[in-house]
Amino acid sequence: MRDLFAGVTRFQQRKHPELRSRFEQLANGQQPDALLITCSDSRVDPALLTDCQPGELFVIRNAGNIVGRHGEADLGIAATIEYAVKALRVPQIIICGHTRCGAMSGLLNPESTSSLPNVSKWVATADHALKASPLDQDADRLTQVIRANIRLQLRNLMTFPCVADAVEARRLKLKGWLYDFESGTVDVLSPETDRFNSPASCTV
Ligand SMILES: [Zn+2]
Repeated sequence: MRDLFAGVTRFQQRKHPELRSRFEQLANGQQPDALLITCSDSRVDPALLTDCQPGELFVIRNAGNIVGRHGEADLGIAATIEYAVKALRVPQIIICGHTRCGAMSGLLNPESTSSLPNVSKWVATADHALKASPLDQDADRLTQVIRANIRLQLRNLMTFPCVADAVEARRLKLKGWLYDFESGTVDVLSPETDRFNSPASCTV
């Protein structure tokens, strides 16, 4: 096992001094540019992916970037969304799924999580992603489910009154991203076509 505290020491000696003035500013409060909801997968690093600095991203992570419906969602998720939208007034929420997602693979192959009862129950909350009609015939089944889950979680976000109100008031946008960590590319869900496209660049 690697000694991660050696990393803390390097951070304190090298990185933190570079960021000292930013952290001093942030002591007065945060005004993040987005709430990013993504998977706990160690291959997904939100700040690295978006080239963001401390204070710029408010993040929810769990297996499968699952939100759930208002009233049925995990309380921690609901509270964090509420805080991001009502207290921090983030201008955008991004659901960021990723390639080779183990949680979505578990949803697709329930037998693979038979010895993991909590994982099994959790990913099953996204089973509407399996029932969605496949819009993406070009993709393999796992990629289709990953994309369908991003669409599902965006719909789930809209069941939260604070989200729906802020979207209606045009002070909040919802976005769907699919991150391919092997290529570094991010496909963005188009609200017009409901398809994932590969823009040359996208802004957070
Ligand atoms: Zn994942």
